Amino acid sequence: MKYIEQWQVLDCPCLVDKVTERIARLGAKHLSYAGRLTLIKSVLSTLHNYWARIFILPKTVLNSIDAICRAFLWHGQEQKESSVLVSWNQICKPRRKGGLGLKLLHQWNVALMVGQWRRLCAVKTQLKTWLYDEAWRDSGSDYTVKLGYSWLVDACPDVLWYPWIQNRIMLPKHNFFIWLVAHKRLLTQDRLIRLHITQSNRCYLCAADEEDLNHLFFSCSFSRQCVRPLEDWLSICLLTRVIDWWIAIRERSLVKKQVVAAAVAHLMYLIWHARNRCRLESVIPLPVMLIKQVKELLQWRVRYSRVKIGSRRSQDWVNSLCQSVTN
Ligand SMILES: [Zn+2]
Repeated sequence: MKYIEQWQVLDCPCLVDKVTERIARLGAKHLSYAGRLTLIKSVLSTLHNYWARIFILPKTVLNSIDAICRAFLWHGQEQKESSVLVSWNQICKPRRKGGLGLKLLHQWNVALMVGQWRRLCAVKTQLKTWLYDEAWRDSGSDYTVKLGYSWLVDACPDVLWYPWIQNRIMLPKHNFFIWLVAHKRLLTQDRLIRLHITQSNRCYLCAADEEDLNHLFFSCSFSRQCVRPLEDWLSICLLTRVIDWWIAIRERSLVKKQVVAAAVAHLMYLIWHARNRCRLESVIPLPVMLIKQVKELLQWRVRYSRVKIGSRRSQDWVNSLCQSVTN
């Protein structure tokens, strides 16, 4: 907050340097007074305007910029010459008051800040209920940007499946895929019917039942042939409803949860691709090939994702998984 109130002189020498540098680059000694006035309005003013909207700039800095502009107007260079034809205060009056319409920088800075202050007051109103909340005051916590932002956007509760999406072992493409599944936005047959894109809801892989998320990934005869070996390998029992497989591993250690979540996500991704291949090419891959791919990728991800294994027991469990793939 201190930066909003006042910028120190030492904080902004670059501002004066930039104005000086810009004038030196303009090299406008041979321009007319009118030409220099236009340049001051269009170029030099904009240099300080950006900062003047955010900070109350030190008067000495603003006076320096005023002096540079004054010297440029009368002499076409940044050096501070003493001889001027009309005072700077007169030049900085509006044209109808006898001036040339330039602005006195300090007053302009204050006027800009008042504009920002009105916006800050609007933000204060927005945050007031939180800042004056008794629970917040009693907590004794200092305000942080992260805390304020989460208060503004965190109106809904955490989703049940969040910890499994935040998974370093899982590939990003599997992560995004499982996020779509969690939101029930995968274009399965039941959804395509609701969108009036197709009329058939028959599962492509088994051709026996209606295709929806639960059927495709956990009830379909093809998927069961893939899921059972995975359950044996990971020593888990996946339930038959999509959302429930996360709950089934809730009690396990973090690394086990992450390994299981990554394996299930990869298998679901491969089942989805098998379904699409069947739909487009009428070819169904062997379930054993899908399981082989899941195991090999998981072994590679566990080794190179630098995930913290934790306890010795978890380490043994991960080692046994990896060895079973190698064997
Ligand atoms: Zn099926």
